[in-house]
Amino acid sequence: MALNSKNVVKYCGKCHQTGENVTGFGRNLLEYHRGYIFCEDSTNVCEYCGGQLKDTGINKDDYVTIAKISNGNRQLLEAMIGLKQKDIIEYELKMSQFRAQAQQQRTSQKSAVSNNKPKCPTCGSTNVEKISTTSKVVGGALFGLFSSNVRNTMRCKHCGYKW
Ligand SMILES: [Zn+2]
Ligand SMILES: [Zn+2]
Repeated sequence: MALNSKNVVKYCGKCHQTGENVTGFGRNLLEYHRGYIFCEDSTNVCEYCGGQLKDTGINKDDYVTIAKISNGNRQLLEAMIGLKQKDIIEYELKMSQFRAQAQQQRTSQKSAVSNNKPKCPTCGSTNVEKISTTSKVVGGALFGLFSSNVRNTMRCKHCGYKW
C-alpha cells in the first residue's frame, strides 16, 4: 500500500481537453486514458494540471482490466462507470468475466516476445524508467540469490507500477 497507493481512478475534465495526462501513451490507448488519473483516494487535485478531480467510483485494477480486455475502448469504460453507480451487482458480474478474460490474455502474452519499447504492463504507458539495481547486485550475488529483487527493474512514471 505504501509503495503504490495510487489505486483509485479519478477524472480531470481539464486534462481530458488538453490531453496533459496522457503524454507517453501509444495512440491506441491515448483516447482511453485521456482525463483519467490514477491517484490516492484522498486526492482531489489533479497532479498534472491542478484541476479539480471527479470520482469515477472505480479502482485502478478494474480500470486496467477494462482497458486490457477491450483494447482501450473508452465507451465501454464509461458504460462500466455508469453501471457501477446504477447496479453494482451487474457491474461485479461483468467485471468477474472481464478479469477471467484478462487473465487468459496475460498467459498467452507471456509467451510472446516483447518488442522494442518498454511499456507499463499495468496502464500501458511508455513513460517508464529503469530503476538502478546496482546496489543490490554489488557484493557478488551474481546468480540466483537476489534474482527476485533484481527482476524489478522498471518503474512506470504514470502509475508507479514496478516490474
Ligand atoms: Zn488535470
Ligand atoms: Zn503504469
